[in-house]
Amino acid sequence: MSPLYICNHMDHLTPQQRHKTMAAIRNKNTKPEIIVRKGLWKRGFRYRLNHKRLPGHPDLVLRKYRTCIFINGCFWHGHLVDSITMESSACCKIPTTNHDFWVAKIRRNKERDKEEQRKLAEMGWHCITVWECELKPSKREDTLESLAFTLNHIWLQDHGAKSIPYPQLEEEDMQMPMAAENEL
Ligand SMILES: [Zn+2]
Repeated sequence: MSPLYICNHMDHLTPQQRHKTMAAIRNKNTKPEIIVRKGLWKRGFRYRLNHKRLPGHPDLVLRKYRTCIFINGCFWHGHLVDSITMESSACCKIPTTNHDFWVAKIRRNKERDKEEQRKLAEMGWHCITVWECELKPSKREDTLESLAFTLNHIWLQDHGAKSIPYPQLEEEDMQMPMAAENEL
């Protein structure tokens, strides 16, 4: 659907419908998500989007790396907000108007995130959260580089050990019959 079509189409919508449509568009291709997708693609990583069957519908799923990536907005997911004190942080300013409402809402989101990642971990998935603030132009490349590094590290942990032979054991195996022979 072209943006023009959306605009024409939107004129005929009620405010609620328009709000819903806008939210759907926003959720589908939020900018931070595009940055991560492009950054990973460029580095040769392949992924699936919004895996509906996994808890929390991770934004990106890299099966080969058994990794789910969540790209979280700092406000909605309460980045750097302590879940006990629930005080505002540098990147999540909890509004003073309707303060209790926002505290409750953000706390719920944080708890849900934690619970979903716990479930994923139980299923054998690694979870990585990329925060919106880590994708600011000044930090973007570092964030993507360290993300790539982490993914490669995960892959090596999963596969590296298996491909390394055990020279120590081989040596022992070779010596065993000799030791047995000496005893005869
Ligand atoms: Zn943040």
